[in-house]
Amino acid sequence: MTTTSDKIMNRTQDGFVHHANSGLKSGLNTTATITSSTVVANTNFDVIIIGAGFTGLMAARELSLKNRKVLLVEARDRIGGRTFTTEFENEKYEMGGTWIHWSQPHVWAEITRYGLSIVESKGATADRLSLLFDNGSRLKMASTSDLFTEVCEVMNTYSDVDGVQGRTILPLPHDPFAAKEINQTYDKLSMQDRLDQISSTLSKEMYEFMDAYLSMNSQCRLSESGFIDHIRWWALGDYETFRLFDKTSRYKISEGTTALAQAMLNDCHNVQLLLSTPVVSINRTDDNNITVLTQNGQLYAGCTTIITIPLNTLYKTQFIPPLKSEKQRAINERQCRGGSKFAVKLEEPIGKWCGYAPYPNPITMAFTDDEDGSIIIGFGMEDLIDIQDLNAVKFELNKFLPDIKIKYIIGHDWRNDPLTGGTWGWYRPGQVTSNLLTLQENEPPLFFASSDTANGWRGFIDGALESGLTIVRHVEHYLNEQTA
Ligand SMILES: Cc1cc2nc3c(=O)[nH]c(=O)nc-3n(C[C@H](O)[C@H](O)[C@H](O)COP(=O)(O)OP(=O)(O)OC[C@H]3O[C@@H](n4cnc5c(N)ncnc54)[C@H](O)[C@@H]3O)c2cc1C
Repeated sequence: MTTTSDKIMNRTQDGFVHHANSGLKSGLNTTATITSSTVVANTNFDVIIIGAGFTGLMAARELSLKNRKVLLVEARDRIGGRTFTTEFENEKYEMGGTWIHWSQPHVWAEITRYGLSIVESKGATADRLSLLFDNGSRLKMASTSDLFTEVCEVMNTYSDVDGVQGRTILPLPHDPFAAKEINQTYDKLSMQDRLDQISSTLSKEMYEFMDAYLSMNSQCRLSESGFIDHIRWWALGDYETFRLFDKTSRYKISEGTTALAQAMLNDCHNVQLLLSTPVVSINRTDDNNITVLTQNGQLYAGCTTIITIPLNTLYKTQFIPPLKSEKQRAINERQCRGGSKFAVKLEEPIGKWCGYAPYPNPITMAFTDDEDGSIIIGFGMEDLIDIQDLNAVKFELNKFLPDIKIKYIIGHDWRNDPLTGGTWGWYRPGQVTSNLLTLQENEPPLFFASSDTANGWRGFIDGALESGLTIVRHVEHYLNEQTA
């Protein structure tokens, strides 16, 4: 698919920038906003894909390249879903999903395919650390070399529930059910349960550090975060702390995530794209086809649909007739909602720096992202901080770095975004064994795919691409059977 406005920056409805001096707030520009297609009336599509995040884009590209007639329907005014790149005052910012790695097979294949490159987030390897202890009241400066020998040991202890670093739980990290029975035992544990099990071996400071680091990963209270998702990250991180850091928070796409989304869209063959078109209900017709009803009252017909709506908001979509009750139950349960992510531009660069603080600090982790350290990326849990409130963010960041001055803050509130209801995926205790398979199950002609239900890098861009590719195989098989 080619569009006339591929490289034109337009204002999106998502995100904000708030200037410290003028107090002015404004929206964000991105090239992810693209002109919708004009859909020919009464077209019967082979596949109607709902959602133009990476799951939907992968499915659209692959199915269209197999000459399937595809309609891609997206509620937002842009593509990319939980990722988009914006440019402001000559700096590039990622508002959502950011870091990728060459060991993430699906995303790396796309990097290779489109000749994209990676750039390092400098603060990911900072040696200068600010640690906040005692409910944020005590600041301790440390060096990575001092702290991380112990952190690596503690991470090993934390993950070593089975004497072999969790290997019996996920012997194959891309197959969540390779050890189903063992899986069930550990899926009951929360991340807090596991921390409590080893807490007597930890100093108070190390306990607080672990609380900060682990809840940064799940972006949720540890008591609500499933331990098995920690083991999945750990296994995918090759059972090693620094490798896990490198894979989850060190390398970004230089050209931006939006460049990848656009490359995938441009590769689509004759896909019709409708932006700003929320789907409200999905109907299965008597002859086992589907119709999709949009908020503006349009009805689109097809043989199949792929639903890529995020797990935390899928419960809002109406299915007629209803889905199997077990599936609807799993949808209604949702998963952890995550917290916040923001970027601040500083008046003066501070070099490579990183900070951690445990719950209930509103900012659990922050680090410098760019070459000279004038941009800090921060993360918080739950709704503990309103990232649009520049003074509140400054107050909290000053606890780590008393002297910094902020030029502007830029971000998007994913947690309260009605189309997302959260950030990246993390299941609550018990949900992997009770919900994952059910959520992945298709009810043809309805097919379900999302990063939130992927097998390997679930909750990552890679997981979205994995899930999109997997669903293409199922849909193709189904469509071929119908015409056999
Ligand atoms: C703050 C943040 C930081 C992250 N950091 C990383 C990271 O560093 N690395 C990484 O790999 N991943 C990261 N992730 C996760 C990653 O971005 C997501 O897992 C992935 O992009 C999800 O892709 P998806 O296509 O499955 O879902 P989405 O991107 O959410 O796409 C689903 C699409 O469906 C649309 N939609 C919803 N409802 C409707 C409706 N009713 N009708 C029509 N369309 C609808 C949505 O608007 C959306 O565009 C992060 C995510 C966030 C939010």
